[in-house]
Amino acid sequence: MRPASSDTWRIAGWPRVRNGSADESGHADYECVKICYNTQVFDQGPRSLSLLRQELGHVATGEQSGLLPRWLRPPIPLNHSKRIAILGATGSIGQSTLAVLRHASQATDSALAENGRFRLFGISGHENLADLAAAAREFQPDFVVCSNPESNSHWSESCPEFSGRFETGADALVALASHPHVDVVVAAIVGRAGLESTMAAIESGKLVALANKETLVVAGHLATDLATKTDARILPVDSEHSAIFQCLHSGCGREIRRVILTASGGPFRTWTAEQQRNVTPEQARAHPTWKMGAKISIDSATMMNKALELIEAKWLFGLEPEQLEVVVHPESIVHSMVEFVDGSILAQCSPPDMKLPIQAALDYPNRFDSPASRLDFSSSFGLNFEPPDMDRFPALLVGLEVASRGGSCGVVLNAANEVAVQAFLERRIRFSEIVPVCRKVLDSHPFEPYPDLKSILELDCWARLESCQCISSY
Ligand code: NDP
Ligand code: MG
Repeated sequence: MRPASSDTWRIAGWPRVRNGSADESGHADYECVKICYNTQVFDQGPRSLSLLRQELGHVATGEQSGLLPRWLRPPIPLNHSKRIAILGATGSIGQSTLAVLRHASQATDSALAENGRFRLFGISGHENLADLAAAAREFQPDFVVCSNPESNSHWSESCPEFSGRFETGADALVALASHPHVDVVVAAIVGRAGLESTMAAIESGKLVALANKETLVVAGHLATDLATKTDARILPVDSEHSAIFQCLHSGCGREIRRVILTASGGPFRTWTAEQQRNVTPEQARAHPTWKMGAKISIDSATMMNKALELIEAKWLFGLEPEQLEVVVHPESIVHSMVEFVDGSILAQCSPPDMKLPIQAALDYPNRFDSPASRLDFSSSFGLNFEPPDMDRFPALLVGLEVASRGGSCGVVLNAANEVAVQAFLERRIRFSEIVPVCRKVLDSHPFEPYPDLKSILELDCWARLESCQCISSY
């Protein structure tokens, strides 16, 4: 049965763009679409939106029918190399991104050649001038930013041979993120410090490969509204969200029952609350499966990282808080799962290596040979799953509550957590006091349902001061 052309059809699933020329609506050709009428899949095959319109009359695109948020659509293909800016190039994600670019530049893979190579246009660092200079020497970007304003004189000593544009300070980060020659911004600054530059990239309509989850925790409503207006893409780098994104290609938004974020459980997965009291920063930084920066390593140990990721997932995929779940999976091989309404669960698996999700975001929707390690099935191994213990890891409860309440809760939680983590790293509070500081500041904050950027920045300052006072009373 073929419904009348005036009926509303919809394209289900995520179309894959390949070598497509954009049609009049700005959409590219789709290599593979599932054409659905109600729940019935009618046809599958290569199409362009304009062809579909001619054949079927009205075709509801994904965003019209609530299938996928606009910022997750494939970008319009470019006819030149993708020009990339890495904000936070000296950090763990930044260095893994450089490894992906290095591998891509050496590859002879035909798929990669067909898609065009990447070009590193700009990089930023904050204090680590040695690694910033090493990246500048190797990749010869046009634009280097050191966000620490006091680094000017040290830079010329660190990299005297660099002849491109060099600027310092937070404004320079924004200039790089919004530079007209940049196509892709890898947002890999840690913490709230990444907010303005990530927002600038979204405002300029870039493809943002988002590692800085704090932007969505602090200002998810503003970032997604802005991306809708500017047609920016926000694609996940966080491994859990990358996994969810990859699994979502098998269905559409309305078919999702829940997403299940996996958590390694961190170094204290089996420790009692009493044992956690005397944890040292060195113990907390030693993550069993991932090698990461200091802040996210501590967040993983308290499981605040998973709390922040619940909030990130809510905004990124437009989910209801009730659709978000966490399961502890110590091997970190299943990076997350999606359950669809028919009960089918899809998972994305690979060894824990951030190069894979970084590459997936940089060249979405294409795939090419990756420098990331691969699963080896020649020897036996097991995968374990266990429910999280909310009593020993109360950060998860805080995260679920903040995902549910929304509004100003995210910025307050994030600020309190950043201050408490820093205090723990400086041995001013115990490990077991990090989450109670967050709880206390969150409970005492003046809730705002839809804070604008100015209110967010004010609340951020307020929560930092409150957290410092709270910590000084310990
Ligand atoms: P790192 O601490 O390793 O790196 C942080 C980067 O941010 C560095 O380049 C650092 O510069 C820069 N930076 C620090 N402070 C400032 C500041 N005030 N202004 C501007 N830049 C600053 O962190 P990660 O790479 O581990 O994490 C980065 C982001 O990615 C975080 O949001 C994290 O949650 C997220 N993420 C990380 C994962 C991982 O595996 N590492 C996994 C998933 C998400 P410098 O070193 O020069 O001082
Ligand atoms: Mg993660």
